[in-house]
Amino acid sequence: MALIRLFAWVCLLIILWAEPVYSIPRYVKVRLFEARAGVPRLQLTGGIKIIEPVSRDIAFTGAVYTVEAEGGRVALYAVRKGGRSRTLILRGSRIVMEESGSRGMRIVFSGRSACNYRGIIVVRSATAAGRPSLDVLNEVPVREFVYGIVASELPRDFAVESKKALAVLTLTRLEFLPDQRAIGDSTKSELYTGCGRVRESDRVLVDSVFKERLYYKGRLVLPYYHSTCAGCTSDGDDLFRPDGDDLSYLKAVKCEHCKGSPFYRNKVSVVDRRKVTEIFGGALPVVLAQDGAGRPKSIQVGKQDLSCYQTWLKLGRGLGWSRVPGTRFAIKSTKDKIEIVSSGAGHGVGLCQWGANGLAGLGKSYREILEYYFPGSKIK
Ligand SMILES: [Zn+2]
Repeated sequence: MALIRLFAWVCLLIILWAEPVYSIPRYVKVRLFEARAGVPRLQLTGGIKIIEPVSRDIAFTGAVYTVEAEGGRVALYAVRKGGRSRTLILRGSRIVMEESGSRGMRIVFSGRSACNYRGIIVVRSATAAGRPSLDVLNEVPVREFVYGIVASELPRDFAVESKKALAVLTLTRLEFLPDQRAIGDSTKSELYTGCGRVRESDRVLVDSVFKERLYYKGRLVLPYYHSTCAGCTSDGDDLFRPDGDDLSYLKAVKCEHCKGSPFYRNKVSVVDRRKVTEIFGGALPVVLAQDGAGRPKSIQVGKQDLSCYQTWLKLGRGLGWSRVPGTRFAIKSTKDKIEIVSSGAGHGVGLCQWGANGLAGLGKSYREILEYYFPGSKIK
């Protein structure tokens, strides 16, 4: 008997030793279509099985299926192709769907091409700007989520080592995510367009770094990254202060490796002065000081001090991101026009994606790439 008990304990210890302990959630909850002002209707085009309010297979032949918000409830309709008539299939407080094929659930949101999603989709009714809308949540297995981030964030032809670097950053970011909290699918956190663009090579490279995280002095780092720094990244504290976390470990580094990016050169936009002053409550932002990378470090708007990042967010949301894609911006004012000159794309702190691809092209590994953009950090 004692021998059996000893054997069981040894087996248990072997299992515990062999099984890595992760604190990242097994499933990630992603709120879809975050960047849209409202989602009144979704179109389902395939790979979907309804599991709530009733279990039901959908045959995607001869009809188009739509999910719509209706007076606090959610309804599924079949719309005949080419016809205006539609038939109510089911209605409930929420509709829960799961994938029925190997390619994920195929969903179309107006104005956006079809996206495929893995895991489960939960659709609830909501309101946006006083109108009925849908709240769409994708509960996706964590590995599938990381595959999706790598495929959504980076161009397909980027080098494998630059994609591995991004995968480590995403996995490190997930360590900060409690199980129950949902994150968005836009570049506000990380761009996630589901699994439709994921290739087998993405799965292989993510799996190869799945246990690795980025640390600075023994603590996990908040892994900031952006598209293009256009010459030099910035200190985290310079860009995000006066608000934001302590980012003193995020140091500026020179980067000439992102010259292949379409955002490397200056972008000049001329807009109406009134449009800009409306964004800032009647005032115009005045740059009082720049950091070593040429980004605004101290900005005054009326009597208020704003960080470079806060000012850039207001400009981008108010004017459109194509007019001011990067945080290295300068504002010149004439009587009724404002000229905004910017370079780079994204906030300019941490890893530069185009630079990472450039470094990978020079033969650098993902470890060397991460240690370059996060000086003093270590991968474990
Ligand atoms: Zn760069």
